[in-house]
Amino acid sequence: METPPPELRRDPVTGVWSILATGRSRRPGAVPGAGAEPACPFCPGNEGLTPPEVWAAGRDGSPPDTPGWTVRVVPNLYPAFMPEARGRGWRRGTRTGRPARGEHEVIVNSPHHDRSLGDMEPAEAAGLLRAWRERYRHFASRPSVKHVQIIINHKREAGASLDHPHTQVFVMPMVPRAVADELREFRRFPGGKCPLCASVEEAREDKRTVAENGTCTCFVPYAARGPFEMRLAPLHHQPDFAAVEDGVLADMAELLIRTLGGLSKVLGNPAYNLWLHSSPCDGKDHRRYHWHVEVVPRIIVSAGFELSTGMCLNVLAPEEAARLIRQACA
Ligand SMILES: [Zn+2]
Ligand SMILES: [Zn+2]
Ligand SMILES: [Zn+2]
Repeated sequence: METPPPELRRDPVTGVWSILATGRSRRPGAVPGAGAEPACPFCPGNEGLTPPEVWAAGRDGSPPDTPGWTVRVVPNLYPAFMPEARGRGWRRGTRTGRPARGEHEVIVNSPHHDRSLGDMEPAEAAGLLRAWRERYRHFASRPSVKHVQIIINHKREAGASLDHPHTQVFVMPMVPRAVADELREFRRFPGGKCPLCASVEEAREDKRTVAENGTCTCFVPYAARGPFEMRLAPLHHQPDFAAVEDGVLADMAELLIRTLGGLSKVLGNPAYNLWLHSSPCDGKDHRRYHWHVEVVPRIIVSAGFELSTGMCLNVLAPEEAARLIRQACA
């Protein structure tokens, strides 16, 4: 049976957009107890189990869809956004929606089944971030694309349906609410300054800095949503991830390895969600935005209070969280 293309639906009471992508319920591990996959589709030698690759790094003469890659990119078999989802939006009474036009890719982080980002060698992680930038640039330059969302779900408890570490790239026809909210804060911040640049200095004052290197910093935000949330950013103000230089990417890779390693030591390899936030590619002026990476460990379940209020209830002081991770990764 053909699955209908995914669509975006807007709730008239909350204003929140949801994606209806019924095909995703068929993905491995989506339904609890549905059984393990027979072979890992992301391991070298199993390239035939994925759709044909669209990009790869590290190939030294080896043909596509064979081993020999260091990073490999394939379309997601169960996309949340599809090029085929075309046409106009609709409004029937309160029922507002539009086709979920876009793309959804998987970046296989490395050939190693058990090597998460925090366990990588610096050169390997830098190669992965260069792949992020490559795919980001590839999509961000298209007029129909308004936002490119890059994420890692680490472990099943954080939503990963396959164990082999991988990144997902969501190519979106709209700016998502979380990014729109951040853009508003960046625009509103007094004095034409950048709230992220300003908070880097305050994090140092408060001893909420976890680690720094030549061009990047990692700190626990003053109003962290939960225990051990981390924010990583380049020290120089830069709105657009597409513009990041190789040296900064290498520093960001080194800092991610170090701080995720510290997090893993403190919490015993916790599940986490990690994402990149960059200025949207909707053609508007976002010079005041500052790209960053956020890491949210999944050690607390969002409950009724969080869902009913949109607020978070943190039980660990950010200063204490920063101290613990800083010690573990020193
Ligand atoms: Zn694997
Ligand atoms: Zn800034
Ligand atoms: Zn953000």
